[in-house]
Amino acid sequence: MKPCPESPDPRAVLQDTDLCVKCGLCLPHCPTYRATRDEGDSPRGRITLMQGLMAGQLEDDAVVRRHLDGCLSCGACTAVCPSRVPFGRLMDAARAVLTPPRSHGRISGHLLRHAGTRRAAAGVLRVAQRTGMMQVAGVLGSSRRPGLARDARLLPRLGPAPPRPGGRAGAAGQGAAAARTVALFTGCTGESLDAAAVRAALAVLQRLGWRVTVPREQVCCGALDQHAGRPGAAADLARRNRRAFAASEGPILSLNSGCRAHLRDYAACDDQGADIAARVTGLCTLLQGVDLGPLRLQDDPLRVAMHTPCTLRHVLGEHDALEALLRRLPGVEVLPLPENELCCGSAGTHMLENPAMADRLLAPKLEAVEALAPDVLVTANVGCAVHFAAGLKARRSKVPVLGPAELLAQRMGVQSFPIQR
Ligand code: SF4
Ligand code: SF4
Repeated sequence: MKPCPESPDPRAVLQDTDLCVKCGLCLPHCPTYRATRDEGDSPRGRITLMQGLMAGQLEDDAVVRRHLDGCLSCGACTAVCPSRVPFGRLMDAARAVLTPPRSHGRISGHLLRHAGTRRAAAGVLRVAQRTGMMQVAGVLGSSRRPGLARDARLLPRLGPAPPRPGGRAGAAGQGAAAARTVALFTGCTGESLDAAAVRAALAVLQRLGWRVTVPREQVCCGALDQHAGRPGAAADLARRNRRAFAASEGPILSLNSGCRAHLRDYAACDDQGADIAARVTGLCTLLQGVDLGPLRLQDDPLRVAMHTPCTLRHVLGEHDALEALLRRLPGVEVLPLPENELCCGSAGTHMLENPAMADRLLAPKLEAVEALAPDVLVTANVGCAVHFAAGLKARRSKVPVLGPAELLAQRMGVQSFPIQR
């Protein structure tokens, strides 16, 4: 079992670098090593750098930091390592104590922790997008600040905000499934980047007759803080979520594979954490064995390209559940993207901090989408969806990017959310 995000001593975690026997079997599976062919960008090389830093033989200089910060935390190396080196944990610990993060962006930290501020920011963004201010930011940014142009390009057009946490959605009393209750985890993106997916999931569950609760005090899962070397901030968020979901009932539905993977890590914290980890599920798993008849899905032909996020494939092992759900949908032809086991470059905040590598890793996937010419692209992670949508937009592709819930809602004929991100 992985340690609780409140793990008290990252230096103890780093002792596990000794598990690496330097066999190199992970190298062909590492997206950054495949891109640069630089040992420092490989799992084995990064472990060697960590060992050098721990032994005081290396300094935390720009070169070391570039190699370590460049890790996508994609989990591909852990999945193939015969020595079971827990690379993700090592990377988190290294960022916490060996290459401490630069100052935490005060604005982003506040946004992760305070739902009211996030809602206000999302409202401002909606207005900016509708009035054309975002295009202005993109144009200005392209000449004065390339980063601003990229940020403006990456942000999807936000749909209407979903119902606020604290309420109940869905209908009870509609047949055999009526007694089923689901608690919805919306995290830090549910009111903004993932608002369309939340609304779509509510529409799906409502038509299935399930009762949905959205616990009011929930916050960001903490994954972004944990993977950026801020375990204290991640632990605070984990504690608040454990309290928020303590009184909830039924499975905890987390639409994003990245959040879900981190919620599972609460297991080692305490009894409440173990309870959350046991209950947390994704939509594809939740719907396994469930009669989809009540959804009254359209059956006209639809070619669906499928991307499997790293957290879904390497961490949760749920990529088969996504494909199985898609294959159950009438009229749908599933087209898995080639090399789906390789990261698209999104990787949490990696696409913002390492845009050149993020775009390089995405390029062959965009070419594959263009070659397949699907009607839609489906992915199970909001970060991947934003990254793909921005890349497709830059190529003037009209292929919309959807999550599984959005695809289901679209096939139900529910159009209360934007199809194009
Ligand atoms: S991380 Fe695992 S697969 Fe990679 S070199 Fe070390 S022992 Fe071998
Ligand atoms: S987590 Fe991914 S990017 Fe990082 S070393 Fe492992 S395979 Fe490479």
